[in-house]
Amino acid sequence: MQFVLSIFISNRFKNHIFGLYNPAMNFISEQLAAYAEAFTQEESPVLKELNRETQAGVLMPRMLSGHLQGRVLAMLSKLIRPMRILEIGTYTGYSAICLSEGLQPGGILHTIDINEELSDMVRVFIKRAGCNGKIIMHTGDALDIIPTLDETFDLVFIDADKENYPAYYDMILPMVKQGGVIIADNVLWSGNVLKNDSEMDDETRAIHKFNSMVQSDSRVENVLLPVRDGLMVIRKT
Ligand code: SAH
Ligand code: CA
Repeated sequence: MQFVLSIFISNRFKNHIFGLYNPAMNFISEQLAAYAEAFTQEESPVLKELNRETQAGVLMPRMLSGHLQGRVLAMLSKLIRPMRILEIGTYTGYSAICLSEGLQPGGILHTIDINEELSDMVRVFIKRAGCNGKIIMHTGDALDIIPTLDETFDLVFIDADKENYPAYYDMILPMVKQGGVIIADNVLWSGNVLKNDSEMDDETRAIHKFNSMVQSDSRVENVLLPVRDGLMVIRKT
């Protein structure tokens, strides 16, 4: 399918669809993963349905955060108690709805995605999750949209095109409040970050560069949580 489609779509757009496909993310055994999920708060019925609908009818369903990571994001957001959240990479809206659970009264989550094809589906689920007015969707390239947002953020979730993680970090950090948190997903990239530099593809190289930038940045404190495909949690000091 990739071959056939590549005749019709530009390289840049193809990257948005296929480049993010992440084939293997099983760092722990299936049984332990199932146990961890079984002893994690259940998804709400709306999130469960969004998960199911994404798996059934949307390209690249592995990109969805899913039950365990969704609860991790919701829990972190509830601990942070943010007024303003930014998400880069909406996809079908699963992580946006999870992160919005921690919003304080009057709080707002901005979420950005370059793919407008999913926005009707996202809008339906935002409404059904009771998040109307709390989640603002932006369609376009995050690199263009972020500078137009007149906000400072308590929490940022970076989860879009991996090549731009270093650029998103540079752009976002000045817009994060002191004590605010940035979470970046897929920072282990199925284990590809362990490869030699010569074997890395562009996405892996960018993720490794991002991890190195964060690790050597004296403005932040950070912990790489090996949850699912790796979550880098960064606190601006
Ligand atoms: N956060 C979602 C998954 C996001 S998948 C979840 O956890 O459920 C990554 C998304 O990033 C895709 O929907 C893709 O369209 C989007 N994306 C890729 N490049 C982008 C860019 N330059 N700007 C904004 N969004 C981008
Ligand atoms: Ca992700």
